[in-house]
Amino acid sequence: VVSYPQSVLKLIRELSRLPSIGEKSAARLAYFLVNTDKKQALDLAAAINGAVTSIKFCENCYFFAEDKLCTVCSNSSRDMELLCVVEKPMDVIAIERMSEFNGLYHVLHGLWAPLKGRGPESMKINELLKRIDNGVKEVILATSSTVEGDATALYIAKLLAGKGIKSTRPAQGMPKGAELEYADDLTLSRAFSARNIINL
Ligand SMILES: [Zn+2]
Repeated sequence: VVSYPQSVLKLIRELSRLPSIGEKSAARLAYFLVNTDKKQALDLAAAINGAVTSIKFCENCYFFAEDKLCTVCSNSSRDMELLCVVEKPMDVIAIERMSEFNGLYHVLHGLWAPLKGRGPESMKINELLKRIDNGVKEVILATSSTVEGDATALYIAKLLAGKGIKSTRPAQGMPKGAELEYADDLTLSRAFSARNIINL
């Protein structure tokens, strides 16, 4: 049986491990990479290497950082009484883009999904509770408006209520079932300026 050379097989195998890349897409991408001009493919390899070796997560909020703290946490003009909880670093970028929010963030790096076997310990929740005592007055739970996002927000709201801290959720108008990072700036901005207190 004729197959790909070993080096190409290895490339296909690595590519097919990426999210939403199947075996066929991986083969197509591998062909593109070895067939395009070599410099472009090597630039991609160098960019992956550079990002993976230099990017860390902020020790405070778990957003991308190149130092111990991210650029948001090390900016003294941010409102430290307001904390916005999101699922992924990409959500921080979406919220920063609409430039309505001047507080700090906390990136959970996951959602509560009991059916997929992911419990609260798979998110940065203990880390969130530890930060809360530093004068935070309101926590905006901006997880996506999906079943898992809603369940996670409710779970955290209960924990915060036990500490006497107000939780809010961006207003309706966020498309139901949609991921926050795909919401357009105007929708996000409206949802953030009209926040609802979470009723427990
Ligand atoms: Zn940070």
